[in-house]
Amino acid sequence: MLPGLADLAAHIGDPQVRNRGTIGGSIANADPAADYPAAVVALDATIRTDRRDIAGGEFFTGLFETALRPGEVVTSVFFPAASHARYAKFPNPASRYAMAGVFVAKQGDVVRVAVTGAGPSVFRWHAAEAALAARFSTDALDGLVLAADGLNGDMHADAEYRAHLVGVLVRRIVG
Ligand SMILES: Cc1cc2nc3c(=O)[nH]c(=O)nc-3n(C[C@H](O)[C@H](O)[C@H](O)COP(=O)(O)OP(=O)(O)OC[C@H]3O[C@@H](n4cnc5c(N)ncnc54)[C@H](O)[C@@H]3O)c2cc1C
Repeated sequence: MLPGLADLAAHIGDPQVRNRGTIGGSIANADPAADYPAAVVALDATIRTDRRDIAGGEFFTGLFETALRPGEVVTSVFFPAASHARYAKFPNPASRYAMAGVFVAKQGDVVRVAVTGAGPSVFRWHAAEAALAARFSTDALDGLVLAADGLNGDMHADAEYRAHLVGVLVRRIVG
């Protein structure tokens, strides 16, 4: 059971978008503000295509770019169980896309913190992962700040604001 994944799905767009959009279409599109990529990377999902299996950590390769080859079709996505799996996002009030979204997953001793919406593509915040692997508590994050270098800045939010949002969201998830 991954209630955190169901909760992520429940906050995508609006009912019309949720009824028509697909998980395969979402991850193949690799929109930098999409929600599912954070879950795929944090939970170390496996993406099955009509040709092979692709590890979640190797699937997203850049802005609207994936490891899919021309004509390759995603047929299913496998999400391994986790003792802790939760997503939080700060949605754009118009589209509901993530201005910043964070998925934190704990599987055994491994903690992954995957960030969407803030950069050109989903990425892992390794410093937060190391801190939470040592102690899964907000105290472990004291003083930790995500660098704004390379993050997205646009009419909705600048890079520094997005970096701040990521820090707030991780603490909300763990707290
Ligand atoms: C108003 C609006 C608000 C939205 N808000 C959010 C949001 O808050 N969060 C969020 O995450 N997303 C959001 N979305 C995106 C939405 O959830 C869908 O992920 C997105 O529109 C893709 O839709 P689709 O699944 O129909 O894929 P399509 O539009 O059909 O396809 C997208 C791309 O992926 C390719 N593709 C589709 N399926 C596959 C497959 N199985 N294998 C390989 N390639 C494939 C297509 O060829 C195309 O290039 C929003 C979209 C809209 C229009």
